[in-house]
Amino acid sequence: MQLLRLARVAAPRLRDLRSSAARVAVQLTYANDVSLAQSPRWFAVYPPARAHFVYACAFSDCDGMHDLDDEVFRMLRSTTSQATGVRHCFGRRSCRTGQGPRCGLGLTFEVTVIYEAPRHETAGRLALTT
Ligand SMILES: [Zn+2]
Repeated sequence: MQLLRLARVAAPRLRDLRSSAARVAVQLTYANDVSLAQSPRWFAVYPPARAHFVYACAFSDCDGMHDLDDEVFRMLRSTTSQATGVRHCFGRRSCRTGQGPRCGLGLTFEVTVIYEAPRHETAGRLALTT
């Protein structure tokens, strides 16, 4: 997952994208599958952290990615607090023998953004112009 790490390092910090965003919480719930643990996965991003919302497929032998960057960035631009949606994995499961079948694993995501009072907006805009 070297590419994923590089993309994360290159991503903007949350506070530079939207200075009033105090926390972005992402909950991923994968479709029922006997080989997966059923507990939802939960991630939180705070202002100093990189705003990168791409997650590897739950199957360790799958090369699929769930890219929620567009979704979360759109929320930050419009100061939306809540969004949910469904994605399907477009990766392939290799099973260590090259190209495997399409994964297709279903995923429900729930994104919650907490915004602070707007007084921080001014400071954010100033910081961006310098
Ligand atoms: Zn997959």
